[in-house]
Amino acid sequence: MTSFFEVKNLQVTYPIHGGILGRQVGAIHAVEDVSFHILKGETVGLVGESGCGKSTLGKSLLKLIPANRGEVLFENQNILALNRNEFQPFRKRIQMIFQDPYSSLNPRMRIGDILEEPFTIHGLCPKAERKDKVIELLQIVGLRPECYEKYPHEFSGGQRQRIGIARALAVRPDFIVADEPVSALDVSIQSQILNLLNRIQNDMGLTFLFISHDLNVIRYFCDRIIVMYLGRVMEILTRDELLDPHFKKHPYTEALLAAAPRAHPDKVRQVKPLKGDIPSPAHPPSGCVFHTRCPEAKDICRQQIPLLKNKVACHFRERDEKTVA
Ligand code: ATP
Ligand code: SF4
Repeated sequence: MTSFFEVKNLQVTYPIHGGILGRQVGAIHAVEDVSFHILKGETVGLVGESGCGKSTLGKSLLKLIPANRGEVLFENQNILALNRNEFQPFRKRIQMIFQDPYSSLNPRMRIGDILEEPFTIHGLCPKAERKDKVIELLQIVGLRPECYEKYPHEFSGGQRQRIGIARALAVRPDFIVADEPVSALDVSIQSQILNLLNRIQNDMGLTFLFISHDLNVIRYFCDRIIVMYLGRVMEILTRDELLDPHFKKHPYTEALLAAAPRAHPDKVRQVKPLKGDIPSPAHPPSGCVFHTRCPEAKDICRQQIPLLKNKVACHFRERDEKTVA
């Protein structure tokens, strides 16, 4: 099957400035040599602890943060190589949903005007038809038509996330990057928003990259899961593989699973949750970046970077190519 979206050897760093002259004295390696693909209509999860580079990766796919190196192929076109004008048609097709939509909703604008904006920017439909389109959008995300006249402060967190979703859907995108869309919400509201995203994904056939630090949210929503640690991909696995207690996973994936509380914990799994903090991405450990916390680390792990081979990056996880999804 051909990829709809493909990332090849992506690297994103942030410069560290220091000294009296403010020269660059180092760099934070937020995303390091990351490669993966997404098929059309697929929902791929991106999971890892806070600070592992998930948001940076998500934003760099939309060119909101510049990448140092690598390619992002959207229908085989490297969008990183496009200038502003050339990128414009793709910009409409890729939308982002953020953790806190409130910060990006202008408090002085009515919701109706906020949601009409994308139509105006992209010149999408005649002015006279825009209000109807916005009311249709409000209904899709479960809000009443009267919300058109209201202001952002009049809504709860869950309702504001519905507005954020409506704004992303306004331009009829093909691909949505959702960055922690439910992590700021109460648990009861989280499931409502996840159900909404699920329904929209099914009804509109959208492709999703779903970013979350919460494996429980990821396993509810995603077909495949990319596990990231300190800027690197540790493993890519299907939901079935993730849920199969007999599937030999990357030690970091095992540790994340052990740390995620579950309604029905596996009796088979006996991995201790991770101890210690994630090292600084300004000075990532040598060899396997996970070796300072990995319970299975050996000498080779400190010396050689394990390549992502057959969807797993670990010196001690050989996988047969034929069995890899
Ligand atoms: P979180 O869930 O906490 O947002 P994350 O996995 O999304 O974490 P990023 O936000 O992408 O991770 O951050 C990756 C690394 O890059 C972190 O060490 C972070 O401190 C650093 N970082 C992120 N944004 C910037 C920035 N604008 N300037 C400098 N460093 C940054
Ligand atoms: Fe652990 Fe070594 Fe595998 Fe890294 S390569 S995950 S340190 S066993």
